[in-house]
This record gives sequence, C-alpha cells and structure tokens, in this order.
Amino acid sequence: MLLFTPGPTPVPQNVRNAMSDETMHHRTPEFEAIFEKTRTHLFKLFGMDEVVMLSSSGTGAMEAAVTNLCHNTLLNVNSGKFGERFGKIALANGLKNVEIKNEWDTPVDVADVLKAIEANADIDAIAVQVSESAGGLAHPVEELAKAVKALNPNIMIIADGITAVGVRKIDTTHIDALIAGSQKALMLPPGLAILGLSAAALEKIGEGRGYYFNLATEIKSQRKNTTAWTAATTLIIGLLEILETIEREGGIEKLYSDTAVRAKAVNSSLQAIGLHIYPKTPAPSMTTVDDADASAIRNILKDEFDVNVAGGQDHLKGKIFRINQMGLISNYEMAWVVNSVELALAKLGRRTYDGTANKIFNEITFGLEK
Ligand SMILES: *Cc1c(COP(=O)(O)O)cnc(C)c1O
Repeated sequence: MLLFTPGPTPVPQNVRNAMSDETMHHRTPEFEAIFEKTRTHLFKLFGMDEVVMLSSSGTGAMEAAVTNLCHNTLLNVNSGKFGERFGKIALANGLKNVEIKNEWDTPVDVADVLKAIEANADIDAIAVQVSESAGGLAHPVEELAKAVKALNPNIMIIADGITAVGVRKIDTTHIDALIAGSQKALMLPPGLAILGLSAAALEKIGEGRGYYFNLATEIKSQRKNTTAWTAATTLIIGLLEILETIEREGGIEKLYSDTAVRAKAVNSSLQAIGLHIYPKTPAPSMTTVDDADASAIRNILKDEFDVNVAGGQDHLKGKIFRINQMGLISNYEMAWVVNSVELALAKLGRRTYDGTANKIFNEITFGLEK
C-alpha cells in the first residue's frame, strides 16, 4: 500500500535502518556528537538564532511556543483544526485569546490581523499555520509577520510549520518561533518536535515558563549538546540520517523545487480530469480536492489501487481528500496516484478513462508542456 497521507509520511529504508541499532545512552560523548551534528543541520534548515528539539508530537511544540512566548493574550488564526488548536492551548494555560476565524479554504487577511491588534493592546503574540493541514491551505505568513512587526515589534510571531518546514523555503526574518514535527515533512516516525527561535524570542523567554516545556531550561542543555530530560535518541538518530539523506539527494533547495513542481503537476493533472482544488491558496505540502464523491474515491483508491490518501475532519468529513506532497517522493509513485484517481472516476462513471491525468503529470514533471 502506498502511504500518501499528509502525515504520517513514509520513512525511507535507510532511515529505518539507522534507527534499528541498539539503544544508545543519551548521556554519552557518542550521542552528544550526533546531537551536535543534528543541531548544525537544523540551524541551516531553520535559518534562525536558536533551535530546540522536544520529545513530543507537534502539538507539544505548539504549546511550548505559546506558554513561553505569550504572557497575556494570544491572537490565533483559525482557518482549520490546527489554527483552532492554538486558541485552545492559550485558554488551557490561563492566557487570554482572540481569534480570527475563516472558512477552511480561506487564508487570513493581513488587514484583519492588524485591525485586531489595533483594537486590543493586550495581544502580545500571534499564532498562525504556514500550511493549515486541515484544508491544505497556505496563509501569507511572511507578509503577515512583516506587517505586524512594522506595527509593533514586541508582538511575538509563532508560525506552525509542521507541514511547511522542509517543504518550501520560509523567510524567517520576522518570525519568532517556527515549529516542525517529525512525522510530516521530515519523513520520520511521530514523537519529535523542533522549534526554531529568533533572538527576540530568546529575550522574551527569559527564565522560561512551565516545567517540561520550559524552553530556557531546554535551550541551556541543548547548547551543550545534551537535553534537559531523556532525549528521544532513536528519533534524533533518524533525524540526522534524513537530513544527511536530503543533502545527498541534491540538497534542501532541490527538495523545495521538486516539491513545488510535483504539487503543481498533481494539482494540474487532477484539474484536467474535472476535479476542483479546495483551498483558495493551496499549500505545496498536499493536494486537497473537494468532491461529492470524496469518500467513494478514497475507498476505490485504497481497495483497488493500493493508494492510501487522507480524508477530511469535522465539517469536511467525506467532502475532501488530501494527497501528500511532503518528503522525498518518487515520480513513478506519484504518477500511479494521479492515474488511480482517474481510474476511480471512470469506475464511478464520471468520465471515460483516457490517461489524461498521467499525461499532464508527466508533461509538467518532465518539462514537456507546450
Ligand atoms: C499534524 C499537525 C499538527 C499537530 O501535530 P501532532 O504531531 O499531531 O501533535 C499541528 N499543526 C499542523 C499544521 C499539522 O499538520
């Protein structure tokens, strides 16, 4: 079965092999050497002043960013389940919360954010997804961050890049915290989250807040190539292996451009067979199609063509399907996925099969468009 859900994503064989060795003790020079190399790669990937690895799923890093960088009121952008989560985290931690809510296909309007800030002087942090995975939506994060900082440089910008770090280049000039998670674009099993932090963020963190997720405690240890609590050694070994693999395969810039081309090829091939791309501003991390037959298409893909794609949640359950674009993906696998979608439409009696999806995918992927 081909795993094409936008998280978890498949773990490459060499990475699984690297993680299959005997358990290494985390307080040893051997592990510290691995940790140091991994940190060096992460500094390059994030392009920020500090990086921290946390043993948690992505939500743990969302909570750590909110509790350490917001001390009063969090403004969260809610165009989907993950944006909504930031507001819930703020309230659960006794912070105040203002939300800008839109339909899941609609990116936040920067003007709305600026208006909300002007109306509420208590807002000291903003949380937004770079890629809102609920509907495969891209928010204009860099533009938003720049505009907010021009208005008030003390407001912390928390960007959830769990389906964006490793997918496309993110300009972190005005971002204070950028979050990544292991099981999405980083092609690892779940359980590791990573935060990139700005110098301004480090200043605001000060002595830190909370206990397990006190970032000051964690940063102090990680600068010495160790962790405050037991490190997720196996996942960090896997992380180093995948970051080295990306480099061996041509580097991160190549991964970004391959992903962009593949996402365009898939979106165009599915539109060419009459399907509709759901988000108004699609993120390159996944292809999201809204369709009355979304559930039937997913079932046919799984049962007849061995392709596992994701559905929707909440009010989009049964109304969309999402195809992963994150990670090192073979063209021959993706060609099979778009071909299978076309076959599924034929089986549903919606169109006569003629290989259009596969043709468009290959033309764009291999630069054969006229
Ligand atoms: C998956 C995801 C999360 C949550 O991560 P967990 O690892 O499930 O805690 C947060 N934000 C986005 C955008 C995601 O895609």
